[in-house]
Amino acid sequence: MEKKELLHEGKAKRIYATEDETLVIQEFKDDATAFDGNKKGSITGKGEINCTISSILFEYLHSYHVPTHYVRRLEGNMMLIKKLDMIPLETVMRNIATGSLVKRLAFPDAKPLDYSIFELYLKNDDLGDPLINEYHAFAMGIARPEEIRSMYRLTAKINAILKSFMERRGLVLVDFKLEFGRDENGDLILGDEISPDTCRIWDRKTHKKLDKDRFRFDMGGVEKAYQEVLDRISNV
Ligand code: ADP
Ligand code: UDP
Repeated sequence: MEKKELLHEGKAKRIYATEDETLVIQEFKDDATAFDGNKKGSITGKGEINCTISSILFEYLHSYHVPTHYVRRLEGNMMLIKKLDMIPLETVMRNIATGSLVKRLAFPDAKPLDYSIFELYLKNDDLGDPLINEYHAFAMGIARPEEIRSMYRLTAKINAILKSFMERRGLVLVDFKLEFGRDENGDLILGDEISPDTCRIWDRKTHKKLDKDRFRFDMGGVEKAYQEVLDRISNV
């Protein structure tokens, strides 16, 4: 499948058209950003590692009948995906308190949560991706009530599947972000990526961070940490 015109260039990926108008190519970049794009950098090899990790996780989710946009892996840092009409929302699920939850609500950092927390964010760089609830999304005409219910159900299901997948590999799934879109039939499908850029993942024994927090907080060893996640999830 050949890359045609560039349709979208985001902070971490590029989307290209293909000869099939229902399919696009998602190309993962080495570029990294954090804190609403205020911190910028590059992590050598990140694009290909994230593409591989995302492909493995999407394939694994397919085995549990989770609908995703993933079609197949292409060479290097590219993935063939179904073109979706993206819903400008981000769903976040948290199993352990950290990050913005600690800043905003003073949860003790690294505290395991008795009840997982589901959050919705509006995907809007100008507004700094604010936290919203479903009523904001309905009022803005972004998504219908049944779509938000499905986004919640799928995010919770994906959390259960990936939490135990990671646990069996000595990893902890701390929190993660997902994006959904509609396919040509209007069905809700998981899009975007699932990688250490969009999930927090810790080593189970040492709680060593193996995700983008190493970049956010200049902890070093970012590429090595991403590679470690890939090595662990590749061992079935
Ligand atoms: P951002 O736009 O947040 O900077 P990226 O660099 O990750 O993010 O760019 C990827 C873009 O592609 C995002 O806007 C994302 O919503 C969009 N996208 C993800 N999956 C699909 C898909 N299947 N079809 C169309 N667009 C998609
Ligand atoms: N996240 C993401 N993209 C965003 C915001 C958050 O992928 O635009 C992920 C982030 O990597 C973490 C989870 O969502 O795994 C929760 O992030 P949090 O709200 O703690 O925000 P942050 O610390 O990124 O400000």
